[in-house]
Parts: sequence; C-alpha cells; structure tokens
Amino acid sequence: MTTGTGGMLAAELERLATDAGRRLEDAPADEILRWAAQTFGDRFCVLSSMGDAVVASLAAKAKPGVDVVFLDTGYHFAETIGMRDAVAAVYDVNVVTATPAITVAEQDSAYGKDMFDRDPERCCAIRKVAPMEAALVHYDSWATGVRRDESPTRANTPVVAWDARRRKVKVNPIARWTQGQVDAYIAENHILVSPLIDDGYLSIGCWPCTEKVALGADARSGRWAGKSKTECGINT
Ligand code: SF4
Repeated sequence: MTTGTGGMLAAELERLATDAGRRLEDAPADEILRWAAQTFGDRFCVLSSMGDAVVASLAAKAKPGVDVVFLDTGYHFAETIGMRDAVAAVYDVNVVTATPAITVAEQDSAYGKDMFDRDPERCCAIRKVAPMEAALVHYDSWATGVRRDESPTRANTPVVAWDARRRKVKVNPIARWTQGQVDAYIAENHILVSPLIDDGYLSIGCWPCTEKVALGADARSGRWAGKSKTECGINT
C-alpha cells in the first residue's frame, strides 16, 4: 500500500479528507483548523503568500507554533518579504521559507531572461510548484487562504479535500468566506495586511505577474493580466 509522505498511509489520508470535507462544509474556520491541527499535528502547515495573515493567525490559535511555509520565488515585491518577517515576529508561528533550486540569475542564464513573459507556466513550475512540493514532503496536510469568491476558477473550492496528485490533505478553512467577512475579521482582530492591498493589488504574487485590480473586477484579475494563465499551479 502507498504511504503518504512518511506519515499516515495515503488511503487513510484520503478517507480522512473525504469524511472531513463532508462533515466540516458548514463549520467555522477555527473548527476546521482545529480538526487539521489535532489530526495531523506537526505534519500540518499553512502555505501563505503573505498577502495578509488571516489564515496564519487562525492557524496559530489552533496550533501554536504552526509552520507557515512561504515560497520565496526571487520575484517578490519588497513589501511581501517585509510581510513575511512581520508575520514571523507578530504571530505564534514558525515561518519556513522555501526557495527554488535555482536563483533568478541562474534561470536567466540557463533559459534566457524574463521567462515569466515567454513561458510563465515553466517559470511557475520552477519557482513555485517544485519548491512547494519539496517543502510539502514534510507534511501530510496543508492549509491555504483560497476562497470561492476570489474568481470563477475557485468557486467550487472544498473546505477539506484530498489532493490525489500530491497525496495530501488540502485544507481551505476560509473557502466559504466572502471578501466582506475577510475585511471584518481583519478589522476586528487587527490582522496584518500587506501594504500592497491598500495600493490596489488585491491578490499578490510575483511583481512581474501582478497588477492592480480595476474597480469591481474579481480579486485575481490582476494576476497574469493579458494572459490565459489564471493559476500558478500550487492550488491546482
Ligand atoms: Fe514566474 Fe510570474 Fe510565476 Fe512568479 S508568478 S513564478 S514570476 S511566472
């Protein structure tokens, strides 16, 4: 039988994910995170792009000292690196920075400059997907801040799901939250938010592939604007 990643058996992980996905569909975010923390212990982490600290703060309450994995692609805004350091300083979390196997300079030299323009799929595969999957080797389950109202491609996001490709349990504790609920939670709890959000970047990724969002447009419309690409591959 196939194992997960050194933790539970894959079949057991899949059963847990399927059962929790049904049972926790209407549960509040903190209950979903408590379930994940109790079920997976140290083999549970949060993956954060450091746009805000909503999920990191919720997860820190469910599991003090929880690992928060950040993918440093080498193409981040300076504000994003500042957010990472602020989150590490303010919340009871352990920020883990994952980096690609090659630097931007090495990528430029091997494949030509500005691959993000010519072949963003390959650039994301090298700078996001591969380091994310390498980082997740240490966990059976990870949480994201993906929400159904962010874009049409995320409208069916489950609160807990089995990721068959990675053989891990993916937890989306705020999948059902609206932007209004996120804003209210941030205001009531004084949650850290990237200064880029106030500047109009409603979904934050690497600087070459992130633009400000037009009034009324969906939050992720500023990502890879003008290209058919809508996801980097870490949430698909
Ligand atoms: Fe490269 Fe853009 Fe993907 Fe970042 S978001 S890894 S710069 S293609």
